[in-house]
Amino acid sequence: MGEWYESQTYFRIFHLFWASQFVDWVWAGRYSRIQFSYLFPFNRTGFSVLRSVKGLKDILPHQASQWQHIETVARTLATQYGFSEIRIPIFEFTELYSRSIGGTTDIVEKEMYTFPDRDGSSLTLRPEGTAGVVRAVLEHKLLDSPTTRKLFYLGPMFRHERPQAGRYRQFHQFGVEALGTDDPLIDVEVIVLLWQFFLTLGLKDLTLHINSIGTPGDRETYIQKLKEFLAPLLNTLCGNCQRRYSTNPLRVLDCKVPVCQKNTEEAPHLIAYLSENSKIHFQAVLDGLSSLKIPFTINHRLVRGLDYYSRTTFEITSPHLGAQSTIGAGGRYDGLFQALQGPSTPAIGFAVGLERVTLLLSEDITCKQPPLFFVAGFGSTGKPRAFKLLYELRQAGIRADTDHKGNTLKSLLRSADKLCAEYSIILGDDEVNSGNVILRNMQTKAQQIFKLEEITQRIQTGF
Ligand code: ATP
Ligand code: MG
Repeated sequence: MGEWYESQTYFRIFHLFWASQFVDWVWAGRYSRIQFSYLFPFNRTGFSVLRSVKGLKDILPHQASQWQHIETVARTLATQYGFSEIRIPIFEFTELYSRSIGGTTDIVEKEMYTFPDRDGSSLTLRPEGTAGVVRAVLEHKLLDSPTTRKLFYLGPMFRHERPQAGRYRQFHQFGVEALGTDDPLIDVEVIVLLWQFFLTLGLKDLTLHINSIGTPGDRETYIQKLKEFLAPLLNTLCGNCQRRYSTNPLRVLDCKVPVCQKNTEEAPHLIAYLSENSKIHFQAVLDGLSSLKIPFTINHRLVRGLDYYSRTTFEITSPHLGAQSTIGAGGRYDGLFQALQGPSTPAIGFAVGLERVTLLLSEDITCKQPPLFFVAGFGSTGKPRAFKLLYELRQAGIRADTDHKGNTLKSLLRSADKLCAEYSIILGDDEVNSGNVILRNMQTKAQQIFKLEEITQRIQTGF
């Protein structure tokens, strides 16, 4: 018997390990999106690497300022338009979503993250925001108000979908809901807010699609006509559409499969079947948009498959996103409050997928930050006095930092450069003795001397 490390098993494990390291190294470099290392869960030092769950994304420090910018624009605009923020829980009872989103939708059929609570009740991570907002509004009686209730939200949503560019399992939405009026001008306000949000972010080549799906009563005759039109074409349509023909025929119209789209080109238009009131409402929305010079196209395929949706339906698309071209979608849902046992309440809203917005934004968007003052303290008396100065600057509302990794002036100034500090305040033992500090402009390298006791105030007053 030889030593164990001479055995064939050891030989095989040894080679498999190094082969996996090599493959991982090659693939990680070239095809980092393929994540080959899932098969070989070791990094180059041989330790196993913990990874995030498939379809979830980290927002890393260099991306965070882009997100802050988007969220600031959303909050500022929504507030300007008279919407107040509401923060609703990340999970709710499953029943809320199955009753409000509807059992025949993709979300409820297959995309929800549902799990039992310890007491056996069924909970679901929120797949969208409207249901939770409506539940909160009913629970806290927020409709008892003489004015239209206008709410907005920002936050993560969860859907178990196949991950791909622009489609994740945890993604973020900005959404608004205007509750309590069916005046067509509120529809215009909501659509204009969405349009303005994208314009403020600098997005280009957008198309606003709009349609009216009337009331459930208006749709009854239309659905009959649509079924008569679809019946002879049924076996040319995709499997999903064949199923939808009997469960939810309206949804055949928004099927993304090219052959279904082609074969339903001649389908009757829903707006031809609208009641007089719905026609007047739709025309008023279009006139409102035209009066503000917001360009739109009427899209007869834009439908919603549930009874409580009514009248105005809209979507904004970008040609630069490939298959996931819709960045924001919304519409009226006049019947939802009643479907959740609330009082009859007309309502309209939209939701924007923020990941898709980031895909359209230029990389270099950064929030404008106030100038950074780097405190470079060194020496046995300099360092502790500098630490106190750092505290004083921050107390005074000045953006200030240091780096405890550096102990010499040279390494501290290098850190100041790395942190992109606009100024450094140099404070060594000599400065403590003389009661002065040096203020160094990191770009021009010009230096000025100030009294240590006055520096905070001098910075506050612009030196
Ligand atoms: P899609 O057509 O992409 O399936 P949807 O009709 O399911 O969209 P909505 O429920 O209307 O989407 O959500 C509003 C917006 O949220 C979408 O227009 C999109 O921008 C975004 N969104 C929806 N699902 C995802 C996802 N899985 N990942 C990222 N963004 C998403
Ligand atoms: Mg979807």
